[in-house]
Amino acid sequence: MAEAGSVADRVEQQADIVRVVGEYVRLKKNGQNFTGLCPFHSEKTPSFAVHPVKQIYHCFGCGAGGDVFKFVMEMDKCDFMEAVRTVADKCGIAIPRSRERSPEERREQQQRTVLVELHREAMAFFARQLESTAEGKAARGYLADRGLDAEAIARFGLGYAPSGGDALLRHLKTKCPDKLVELAGLASRDPSGRVHDRFRRRIMFPISNESGKVVAFGGRALGDDLPKYLNSPETPIYVKSGVLYHLDHAKEAIRAADATILVEGYMDTIAVARVGISNVVASCGTSLTEMQVKLLSRFSRRVVVNYDPDAAGQAATERSLSILLEHNCDVRVLALPGGKDPDTFIRTEGGAAYRKLLEGAPAYLDYLIGRARQLGVASVEQKLRAMNFLMPFVQRIPNALLRSEWASRIAQQLRVDEPVLREALRRAAAGRRSEVKTQPGLVGRAAKPAERRLVQMLMEESDFRERLGREIRAHQLHLGLETERILGALLEACAAGTTADAVSVAPKLEEYDRRLLFEIAFESGAEASWEEAESCLEVLRRRKSEEELASVQQQIEACVGSGSGGDGEELRALQARKLELRRRLASTAP
Ligand SMILES: [Zn+2]
Repeated sequence: MAEAGSVADRVEQQADIVRVVGEYVRLKKNGQNFTGLCPFHSEKTPSFAVHPVKQIYHCFGCGAGGDVFKFVMEMDKCDFMEAVRTVADKCGIAIPRSRERSPEERREQQQRTVLVELHREAMAFFARQLESTAEGKAARGYLADRGLDAEAIARFGLGYAPSGGDALLRHLKTKCPDKLVELAGLASRDPSGRVHDRFRRRIMFPISNESGKVVAFGGRALGDDLPKYLNSPETPIYVKSGVLYHLDHAKEAIRAADATILVEGYMDTIAVARVGISNVVASCGTSLTEMQVKLLSRFSRRVVVNYDPDAAGQAATERSLSILLEHNCDVRVLALPGGKDPDTFIRTEGGAAYRKLLEGAPAYLDYLIGRARQLGVASVEQKLRAMNFLMPFVQRIPNALLRSEWASRIAQQLRVDEPVLREALRRAAAGRRSEVKTQPGLVGRAAKPAERRLVQMLMEESDFRERLGREIRAHQLHLGLETERILGALLEACAAGTTADAVSVAPKLEEYDRRLLFEIAFESGAEASWEEAESCLEVLRRRKSEEELASVQQQIEACVGSGSGGDGEELRALQARKLELRRRLASTAP
């Protein structure tokens, strides 16, 4: 979504999505839309559609969708500003070469330059400490024990932060004030206000951004100091969630191999890269973030996750899988035997053994089935629990046929022989609901026409969408609907007076709801009147009354059954409410 008045906004106003997409996909006019074969998944019959009025695209097969910029970003694997330039170029829209910077922006830019310079200086300082001091010798010994020689130390820019407490500060004194060293995250202030080196008695791993500039450090304690790993804090040049360790060196190899190996730590990355597998990155002491996955998927969407096989590593693997799958990555999981992390494994078994296991790494679902089996699948309850552990991952597969294949595989691997479980599993895989329930008919209500129409109106009818939003919100009519979260996000946008269309609301939604929203956006809807809106609201009001009636009836039964209800006052109140609801439903019967 482009900011109002920005260059991107101007390009968006003038661009023609049909023309831009048409340069990548052969499009055919089909009713009010254009359709073609989806460029994001392989298919024989077209399920990819472009809406010329709303200027959006959506694939009914794989769920890809967005505006013209998103399309170009996905196709060209480029960032937002590049996509804006590409679109402007293809549509013949003139844009200024570079924007004038405000004094504030210039000041920030200057500050960032100084911080980068400080990191370069600190890296050189740490390297000298490792190479030529008595304290550094112990660190060299530690590295040598782990198989890291002078060549590796130089290649990965390793260094050593001495124990003194202000060695780096004193070294940088002549170059800049302590305050800047603190801003760079290289010094900290204790409660008394005294400034000291942030990193002490640690082996230092420089962390570079994508363009190869050192912007942070990871420090491993040489002794038993805690924490074992200490990282730079967030600074104006370092946003943790947006940086991957070693990506600057790995990106060409990732493109060439069309795959990334994702590991946990610095030592793992170095060990893997040193045996000639350069397409390896680590997530820098945080669990994998959405921003990191987006960054990575610009180079390749195929990822092998190779975290530690301990409990923490397994949990991190599952979290990472969720994020990677949501971004349409093709994921495999490598769990090394003997509980070894990649570094230990390569040191003891060698690079060739590692490469062999890497090549045979199983698809993520096979890995997860293995995990589910470890949790036990003897009883029906255990099997149901295992299925419910697996289904959210199966649900992230966009292709229905593939989902059903995986369902059979799960049934076979977990030895699900009970017909009732088999049927529940099949149903869950056929739909897009993740929970396996053994009672039929609870797999999720489909979105009804009235709610679909209200979603459309909230997006399109600028004349009365605010009034409509107020009405739904005042009576909480959206709660419990299939489109509850979609309506919720639209109501928020209406209340805030911001744009409420599919593209601007989609980022706030989970994948399932995002797809439903785009499907609704593509349904042809004639211009609506307030009368039509009112009749849709009435459907929702009736539904709410019916639900309340059922609940009141239950309370009455409970009251009568227990013989409680005090002096009967509660019972009388309930019966009065029941009567009122009955009358209301009768008077508004369609
Ligand atoms: Zn598709």
